[in-house]
Amino acid sequence: MTHPIPTLLSVLAHPDDESFGMGGTLALYSQRGVQTHLICATRGEAGEVDPQYLEGFRSIAERRESELRCAAGSLGLSGVYFLDYRDSGMTGSPDNQHPEALAAQPVELVAAKVARLIRQIQPQVVVTFDPIGGYNHPDHIAIHHATVLAFRLAGDPSFACDLPPCQPQKLYYHTISKTYLRIAVLVLRLLGKDPRHFGRNGDIDLASIVAEGKFPTHARIDCRSVAAAKSAAAACHASQLGGALPRRGLIARLGRRASYTETFMRAAPPVERRLREIDLFAGVE
Ligand SMILES: [Zn+2]
Repeated sequence: MTHPIPTLLSVLAHPDDESFGMGGTLALYSQRGVQTHLICATRGEAGEVDPQYLEGFRSIAERRESELRCAAGSLGLSGVYFLDYRDSGMTGSPDNQHPEALAAQPVELVAAKVARLIRQIQPQVVVTFDPIGGYNHPDHIAIHHATVLAFRLAGDPSFACDLPPCQPQKLYYHTISKTYLRIAVLVLRLLGKDPRHFGRNGDIDLASIVAEGKFPTHARIDCRSVAAAKSAAAACHASQLGGALPRRGLIARLGRRASYTETFMRAAPPVERRLREIDLFAGVE
C-alpha cells in the first residue's frame, strides 16, 4: 500500500541537485498538495566552497546541508532524508577513493537504505537521475542504480526490513533537455569556448552528454508557474553559484527558458510506444 495522500519521492546525490535539476517539478507538486520528499545521499562534501561561505560553519557538509534545508523550504518539501554517504567528487578526483564515498559503495547496500525509506514514505511516484546521472557525475550514476534496485526491493516481500512491503507505481528519470544542450554547445563554440570543459570546475563535458544522453522524453512538466520558487531554491545554494553558469547573455537566457519545462523518462511502468504525459501522477490510483 502506498500513502493515502499523493506522495512524490525524489532520490538524489548532493545538496543542490534538487534545485538545479527538477526544482520546478518538486515545487509544483508541493503547491498542488502532494507530499514531496527528498532523499539526498551525501552532503556535498567534495564541492568547492569559497572560504567566505564557511564562516559560522564547521565544515562544507554543514554549510551545504543548511543550504539544502533553505531550498527545501522554498520548494515546500515535506521531508529531507540523508543517507550519510560522502560526496565522491568528479571522476578521477581523490575523493573517489574515500571509504565512505557514495560511488565506492556496493549498490545493494545503498539500495537497501533507499528501499527502507520508500517503505517508510510510501510514495506513488519516485524520481531520480537518468542512467548517465545528467552529466556523468559518479554519485549521480550510483544513486540512479541504487534507486532502480530500491524501487523493486521496496515492494518485494523477500526483501526483509522492519517495515512492510510498499510498491510505488511509477519511476521516472529526470533528463536534461537535449535541445537546450545542443544550442548551448553551438553557442559556446561560437563564443570560442570549449563545451567539453564547461562549468565552475571545467569538468562537465557538454558535447559528450549530447552524444550519450539520448533518453526519450515521456513527460514534460510545465514549471513556469513556480519559476520564482525554483529560483529562490537555487539562490539558497549560494556556495555553489559562483560562476557555475553564466548569469547574463544568451546561454543564461536559454537556460532560464529551458528551466520552464522539466523533462522525464518513464522507467516504470515500462513504455511500449510513444508517451507524452504532462503529469507524473497521471494514472496513479
Ligand atoms: Zn549533484
